[in-house]
Amino acid sequence: MKKLALYWQILIAFALSILYGLFFSDYIHLVAWMGDIFIKALKMIIIPLIFTSIISGIANIGSGDNLGRLGIKTIGYYLSTSTVALFTGLIVVNIFKPGVGADLGLASHVEGLGAAKESFGSTLMNIVPDNLFVAMVENQMLSIIFFAILMGFFITKTKEKSQKLLLGFFDSLFELIMKITLFIIRFTPYGIFGIVAKQISENNNLGELFSRLGLFMLVVILALFIHAFIVLPILLKTIGGVNPLKHFNAMRTPLITAFSTSSSNATLPLTMNAVKKNSGVSTKISSFTLPLGATVNMDGTALYELVVAMFIAQAYGIELTFTEQIIGVLTGLLASIGAAGIPMAGLVMISVVLSAMGLPLEGVGLILAVDRILDMFRTTVNVWSDSCGAVIIAKSEGEKLKV
Ligand code: ASP
Repeated sequence: MKKLALYWQILIAFALSILYGLFFSDYIHLVAWMGDIFIKALKMIIIPLIFTSIISGIANIGSGDNLGRLGIKTIGYYLSTSTVALFTGLIVVNIFKPGVGADLGLASHVEGLGAAKESFGSTLMNIVPDNLFVAMVENQMLSIIFFAILMGFFITKTKEKSQKLLLGFFDSLFELIMKITLFIIRFTPYGIFGIVAKQISENNNLGELFSRLGLFMLVVILALFIHAFIVLPILLKTIGGVNPLKHFNAMRTPLITAFSTSSSNATLPLTMNAVKKNSGVSTKISSFTLPLGATVNMDGTALYELVVAMFIAQAYGIELTFTEQIIGVLTGLLASIGAAGIPMAGLVMISVVLSAMGLPLEGVGLILAVDRILDMFRTTVNVWSDSCGAVIIAKSEGEKLKV
């Protein structure tokens, strides 16, 4: 009863916030603070949550064999769904060709494009942090995850007495962090009201954007839609033996939160809660797969990166060979893994894909105006795919789920 209530509260808040943003844009400061505090609270809890959940998750998985099997399944799911998403995007963008005849005059200048390109090469190297505390201060999720995996794994290698103590400690710490997380989640309707009202008041030229970049937006949304509502449900049903509709229902709260916040990381606390409580996945599997997924698995972002690159090629009249398109698929995959789970992270990574495909970096200026709106859609797909991965893997491990 309570869960349903929270979801409906969020939905009502969402609807009201649109009205507020449209009609009271002069008074946005009266409500925007709620969104700001909510996002701050989510950000506050993210690192402790990722850290403790991965350590206790891995330490509880136990032996190296178990961990290896689960790790391979998880990474296998992430890579294969993102690859399928990339091909879906590629096919849809090749059918509709939204870039052909696009007005290049709209291109606005984008600063700092080169920077992301350089930093990408070292993304993989940076998984090993110089300093754990710096990694935490700078929100370097991959490094934090790496260290947490090491800690979790080596807890299982300590002597029996230490192992019991450490396991107990990290399990309790995780329980504590989850309690704080649940407390923050209760404020989601207020947070979403503040966030969405502010977004709407700042972006009320939607009609104009749509008339200029409408086809491009439709292509992105259509491809995301196919991935989320056709491809992933088929996987849920066939590989997972899970009822997609039931699982979707179970995930409504995190999905609408992902849509409102455009951040997989900020949504993670809600995703973990829903996957465990509503879909019935064990803590062991959810605390291993979801924090990893929120950072690494971004099907929506991967698809978006490639569609944007193809759109830019079409707008500039550049014919891409098959090989160049496949390079686009590969770099799109890497860019989605490297992108942080925060708003507009994907925008920065597009330069990686463009330079690998030999396309003009300034092309990003074409889609700048609509990136933030499309971010809402791709983030929702990112989170949805993470949650599908968690239930599919849980099922394959023989867990009894509620969906
Ligand atoms: N906002 C997305 C996410 O958090 C990343 C992106 O910009 O594509 O999942």
